[in-house]
Amino acid sequence: MGRGNSFLAWKHCWLGNISLKLLFPRLFEVCSFPNALVINCGLWENEGWSWKVGVDSTLLVGELLEDWKELTEILKDVKPCMNEVDKLIWWRDVEGFSVRNAFKRLYSLNAVNHIGSDFRRCELKRLWKAIIPCKVKLFGWRWILGALPTRKELWHRGVILGVEGSFCPLCELEEEFVGHLFLKCCKVKTIWKEVFSWFGVDFDDRLGFSDIDAIVTGEDVLLFLSNSLDGRVKSSFFAFIWSLRWSMEIGYLECHIVD
Ligand SMILES: [Zn+2]
Repeated sequence: MGRGNSFLAWKHCWLGNISLKLLFPRLFEVCSFPNALVINCGLWENEGWSWKVGVDSTLLVGELLEDWKELTEILKDVKPCMNEVDKLIWWRDVEGFSVRNAFKRLYSLNAVNHIGSDFRRCELKRLWKAIIPCKVKLFGWRWILGALPTRKELWHRGVILGVEGSFCPLCELEEEFVGHLFLKCCKVKTIWKEVFSWFGVDFDDRLGFSDIDAIVTGEDVLLFLSNSLDGRVKSSFFAFIWSLRWSMEIGYLECHIVD
């Protein structure tokens, strides 16, 4: 902390990794200025800094008094540095911030590890290690997490108005979702038939044996491809799918220009 004119005393994490509001919820409830800046929560007296955090002293009994003593202990050696500006620091690592450290830290959080099925986690790991262009990795990442802006998705979120806008522009027979656009669409099937033939596998046979209605998400498509081609699907397949996407988009646009 520098001057303390950039942080809210109760709500920001300016003293350690937790706000005073969370650390002392009972005191926060009774404080008079919940949105006060740090610099306004004290004053210089006799060349020393006195904290005035806006809690009425008559209320300080029982648990509130205990909290107050604890807060006073925490604040006793803290004061603003009037010659310095407030700034954010990465306090989790002594060497300071680095992308590698931040990644490790985030990955160690349970929330990130609960990213889905083992299959999904395994595919994501393989994707990041694959020697493919970064833009393809990002495409694959969004694909696996179900974050591609398909027309169905855009319609659901109100970006596209009118249900007719959610339909696949290639066949106009079904809504455009990942499972349809990249596998089940009749226009795309012909490409997959060709690709499967490179591996000596019959696409129609494999699709016939699958529960086709259950293939909806990118993960479902990937699982189908992985099972059908006996694990010969590598992450470089995303490069193929990514090219497929662009060729479809360009084809669609050309189609409309001709129209
Ligand atoms: Zn279609």
